[in-house]
Amino acid sequence: MRDHFEIRDHDAAGRIGRLEVPRAGVTVETPALLPVVNPNVLTIEPRRLAEEFGAEMLITNSYIIRSTDRVRDRVLDRGLHDFLGFDGAIMTDSGSFQLAEYGDIDVTTEEIIEFQRRIGSDVATPVDVPTPPDVDRERAERELETTKRALADAEAAETGDMLVNGPVQGSTFPDLREEAGRHASATDLDVFPVGAMVPLLNSYRYAEVVEAVRAAKRGLDPDAPVHLFGAGHPMMLALAVAAGCDLFDSAAYALMARDGRYLTVSGTEHLEEMEYFPCSCPVCAEHTPAELRETDATEELLAEHNLHVTFEELRRVKAAIRSGNLLQLVDRRARGHPAMLDGLRTLLDHADELERTDPASKDAFFYTSHESARRPEVRRHHDRLSRLAVPDRLLLTESDAPSNHDYGAVWRVKPPFGPFPRALSETYPLTAEVPERVDGAAQVAAAEGVASLAAANPDTAITLGHDDWVPRALDAVPDDVETENLRHLGR
Ligand SMILES: [Zn+2]
Repeated sequence: MRDHFEIRDHDAAGRIGRLEVPRAGVTVETPALLPVVNPNVLTIEPRRLAEEFGAEMLITNSYIIRSTDRVRDRVLDRGLHDFLGFDGAIMTDSGSFQLAEYGDIDVTTEEIIEFQRRIGSDVATPVDVPTPPDVDRERAERELETTKRALADAEAAETGDMLVNGPVQGSTFPDLREEAGRHASATDLDVFPVGAMVPLLNSYRYAEVVEAVRAAKRGLDPDAPVHLFGAGHPMMLALAVAAGCDLFDSAAYALMARDGRYLTVSGTEHLEEMEYFPCSCPVCAEHTPAELRETDATEELLAEHNLHVTFEELRRVKAAIRSGNLLQLVDRRARGHPAMLDGLRTLLDHADELERTDPASKDAFFYTSHESARRPEVRRHHDRLSRLAVPDRLLLTESDAPSNHDYGAVWRVKPPFGPFPRALSETYPLTAEVPERVDGAAQVAAAEGVASLAAANPDTAITLGHDDWVPRALDAVPDDVETENLRHLGR
């Protein structure tokens, strides 16, 4: 039980939570986006990050502060909050990223945790080893052992009321990630970053990002706050939240701005090539792309737009969790980029895991793509079918019940859910809005529902009236279920 993190709302594996940060004396609402602040180059003043963008927490790098003489002395003297001019919560990174980039750093976990405590960090980080994707297993295992020792050193350190990160590594080996999650969860550390994701995120390998997150989550306690380290592109926030991440950090807003790149919820554009802005943030409302290119503050203004669009998406994600339509938002984002579609499909491979935290009732289910057929609500309905009482002779039909019949009962059939007693028609998710022109994926899912009902009731004679289902849906209907094509019967 982690008493500094409280989960308020769930949708799929996404949640709205409250992270108490005692040293800062604040509670941060999650999902939260932590802008990355470079202590040497303040692209946007941290005070403005709070006032204009609503950032409750930011992240900066204690290793850079420690290795830059001029900055170090001022931060030690004034404290981190005063130095940055930020009253919210401040997380600090340890130099692990530099370790991954340059192969060596001159500080131990014990030293850097002590330094983070002295400068007034609210959430500190040990020196773990961010093992990149695609390495051989032997290296991933060896480096994971080093990370585990760093976690043990962090546990042993004097930290007072400062929270401490327990990073979860394991490269692209799901079993190692899961084991690392279980190990980290058993420590008394506080926040759990899924690490070394930057190479995957930069190359839009969202399917593997989802695999790594789900593996880490299988090992971690369900109530552990999870940080997707290095993730801050607005395109993938909904996906990452639906997979179960609570904290994000964005260096992208500033790094991309430096290269003239403009973030949107469906990808990245080049300011140089833009004629119109698809956004109404203060920057885009006041400038045309041509004007923005001409100002002497192009980089700063572009960074502001990038941050606006990212925080806007974060608010949209929170609203979607409250309404229970987060997976619909992910589905919309998945139509914007093929890599996102791979991410969504991978997420739905884990529908059984998502089902555990998915609320039983929420706003109407909208069927908007054939991925909708794989949502956790469909799976839950199929599981529920085996518990319903059935008569000896049962008619399942997509059309109205016939006025004269000798069946024991007539149930409705609605793709993608399949059969259910008419009395359940007004209950979630069977109130779903489904297009008139149902696709094959929905029919196949409905057929799987019929199969699930038939398997649970081998002694019941079942007849299915379907509206011209595709052959692969009919193939999924068990042989002992009699089928009638309603279209041929003229109904
Ligand atoms: Zn804008």
